[in-house]
Amino acid sequence: MADILIVEDERHIADVLAFLLREKGWRVRRAEDGTAALSMVQHQKPDLILLDLHLPGIQGLPFMKRVRELYPAQAVVILTAQGEEDARVRGMEAGADDYVCKPFNNRELVARVQAVLRRTRGDFLREESPREPEIVLAPLRLDCAGFRLYVGDNPIDLAKHEFSLMEALMRHPARVFTRDQLIAKMYAEGEDVFDNAVDTTVWRLRKKVREITPDLNPIKTIYGLGYRFSGEPT
Ligand code: CA
Repeated sequence: MADILIVEDERHIADVLAFLLREKGWRVRRAEDGTAALSMVQHQKPDLILLDLHLPGIQGLPFMKRVRELYPAQAVVILTAQGEEDARVRGMEAGADDYVCKPFNNRELVARVQAVLRRTRGDFLREESPREPEIVLAPLRLDCAGFRLYVGDNPIDLAKHEFSLMEALMRHPARVFTRDQLIAKMYAEGEDVFDNAVDTTVWRLRKKVREITPDLNPIKTIYGLGYRFSGEPT
């Protein structure tokens, strides 16, 4: 049983969302503006927030940032209108776990929510022990002390930047990271950053993993946004 908070001021859309999510057996609560939603997040700790970016009062994006400050591990899926690539990118940069475009396909919406719930419930456990020596997301395992990535029992030695990139993705497997966010994880301030550093590192990581398991892709490209952990076949 998961608790989902729908933040949407257009009632007919919120009705459809609530119906679809309840049908999956999830408990649904609703808020029509950012202020009410923030108080519900603080008191009821939902497992996931489905957030429309267009709201009266506190707008979706400032709301999203506030929630991230208070609860870094809170799962959030944003709803954006078609053609709003800019708002979507800003929402994902503010830390949303995924997005769904309106008008949405019912099955796709439920599938995205379900996928984020599955990934972030693991995420909560990991964030309670941030210093754990390894991150296991089968079939991949990252050995944080030995700077190695295991595919099953096969170790891959990682260079420093490869390790940092993989660590960022595997610590937050539900999240999409932009290239700038990954650069910030991979490089110290003032360190020289090569052109295409992120894309090149992703390419090398994929190559190393595929030398062991040819159809396994460790990193998914999210077109127009950046990268996310994958660990699934291509
Ligand atoms: Ca709205």
